[in-house]
Amino acid sequence: MMNRPIARRALLKTLVVGAAGAALVERTGAASPPARLDEKDPAAVALGYVVHASDVDTKKYPAYVKGQICENCLQLQGTAGDTYRPCSVLPGKLVSVSGWCSAWAAEM
Ligand code: SF4
Repeated sequence: MMNRPIARRALLKTLVVGAAGAALVERTGAASPPARLDEKDPAAVALGYVVHASDVDTKKYPAYVKGQICENCLQLQGTAGDTYRPCSVLPGKLVSVSGWCSAWAAEM
């Protein structure tokens, strides 16, 4: 009889700690950002994406104009100030704000 309140309290403690742990794992998982787009990714290769606009192959992409970077591209999404952000043309991965690809379009 004397052990029942203690056992109930221990069970409650276990449930509370378990629930808090599960909530923490869930929150941590949801907060992990997408991976950065690799220049060798087939989607990146198809559009000539480079992490640094200074590395654009100007013979292959003569339409490139110095000063065009992801950061001033219409397709860039996400939060200003982040160095890697989502791009509507290359979904699921983050692009460098200093990068460039052949789908670059001027912001309006
Ligand atoms: Fe960068 Fe624009 Fe190309 Fe996306 S579409 S990778 S933001 S240049």
